[in-house]
Amino acid sequence: MIDPFGRTISYLRVSVTDRCDFRCVYCMAEDMTFLPKAEILSLEELDRLCSTFVGLGVRKLRLTGGEPLVRKNIMSLIRSLGRHLDSGALEELTITTNGSQLAKYAQELAEIGVRRVNVSLDTLDPEKFAAITRWGKLDKVMDGLAAAKDAGLDVKINAVALKGVNEDEFDDLIAWCGRDGYDLTLIETMPMGDITGDRTDQYLPLSMVRSRLKDRWTLTDIDYSTGGPARYMRIEETGRRLGFITPLTHNFCESCNRVRLTCTGTLYMCLGQEDAADLRPVLRSSESDEPLIAAIHEAIDRKPKGHDFVIDRRHNRPAVSRHMSVTGG
Ligand code: SAM
Ligand code: SF4
Repeated sequence: MIDPFGRTISYLRVSVTDRCDFRCVYCMAEDMTFLPKAEILSLEELDRLCSTFVGLGVRKLRLTGGEPLVRKNIMSLIRSLGRHLDSGALEELTITTNGSQLAKYAQELAEIGVRRVNVSLDTLDPEKFAAITRWGKLDKVMDGLAAAKDAGLDVKINAVALKGVNEDEFDDLIAWCGRDGYDLTLIETMPMGDITGDRTDQYLPLSMVRSRLKDRWTLTDIDYSTGGPARYMRIEETGRRLGFITPLTHNFCESCNRVRLTCTGTLYMCLGQEDAADLRPVLRSSESDEPLIAAIHEAIDRKPKGHDFVIDRRHNRPAVSRHMSVTGG
């Protein structure tokens, strides 16, 4: 799959559910309305869709959400998708999770062939953690991280940088990741979906964070890239990677290799744009994969050049109306 700007699409992120056992303040409103179950693709349908993408050249598949590990029987989907790892069609199968269910599933994930997981964790302070996630418990996530380590999974920690909330903690997070052997990626808040509160209050430019971190750590730019919005450095003192995802202050679109699928079968060609292709009716109307393949190609042919996120006082409304939990970030 090659888009109109010559970018090869080899990475599919799939939101397997819009539901979650947390209500992170930057991601969801507390009283979220979730999709009716009837609109959600079955695990078999998700498998068929993902497998069609793999057939079209997707080499990396990431399951996300909502919280992927709260979907009922999710391990049966992951196990089934593992066949593409065994055949060599897929290079990597991975998940982004809040870690709350990882203690239960880490071992099985490793057995299936998952090698790395991204775990979202914004703070090491249990009270702050409870305040940010509204419903989460830090010790459960810590148990999950321990289980991931025991199972031999590589862990990358994702932390959203929040002004006045965790900005005094990045040194501690870096040191902790160094000790426990995790890479760390800091993420700028993105204006997606209505949340309770004001986003301009949360927004912390990572350029500022980076210059502060330089007082304490030796940061060396490295070439490492996943084709996504993260730029990586090595922290010489810990030997671990530190990534910065700065969609608002930098443009990362030229190297974009990914598309995103929601749990209802809607394909978003860009995280920051509304245009999408509804693959569900195509999927359901025919047992043959041909119409589906045609619809996917048609969608890729419309992949836009880039996004246009803005957060400022004049535009204090989401740049994109859907929540991050719809497309999974
Ligand atoms: N529930 C899983 C988790 O938290 O890792 C997967 C889905 S979550 C939507 C994926 C990532 O998006 C998380 O790292 C989360 O912190 C991030 N995220 C959510 N809302 C965001 C926002 N408005 N701006 C930036 N990142 C956001
Ligand atoms: Fe749930 Fe992840 Fe959104 Fe937090 S960031 S509410 S854990 S989907």
